[in-house]
Amino acid sequence: MLDMKEYENIELKSKIFIEDAAYHRLLSIIADNKNKLETGGIIIGHYDADCQNAVITECTKPPEDSKADRFRFYRGIKGLKSLLRQHWKEQNEYYLGEWHLHPGASPNPSAADIAQMKKIAQDKNFNCKEPILMVLGEVAKSQVINLSIFKNDHIYYYVEK
Ligand SMILES: [Zn+2]
Repeated sequence: MLDMKEYENIELKSKIFIEDAAYHRLLSIIADNKNKLETGGIIIGHYDADCQNAVITECTKPPEDSKADRFRFYRGIKGLKSLLRQHWKEQNEYYLGEWHLHPGASPNPSAADIAQMKKIAQDKNFNCKEPILMVLGEVAKSQVINLSIFKNDHIYYYVEK
């Protein structure tokens, strides 16, 4: 059994797991982000057999064509298609959602974040009706994760177990 972080939404009876390797890679992407701008990428993984619980196996670094400023991150697309094709072929893993960093700020999703996730849920190109949003922020000098799922136009938050 791999070590994982575990998050839960009681109302949905659903869990999201983050594999340790994915979590540590995420921390190293953030440690490399010295310019204090927002950064982010996509979340890759899979659901279990009854589609109740998601397992995050990778959080990618920002694609080269991403743009960032202090309060907004525009995720690019360069290289993602082939990366997703490879994950699907080798591990039956697929796009689960988006992650980004709020440097030195609360990890609560902004109104723009929520609007973007609603768009993704409806966009057939993503083929992901219930995208996951992971925002990393900083509260009292430590990293905090805010995990949520967009489902039927609602946002559902997950709490770490
Ligand atoms: Zn944000």
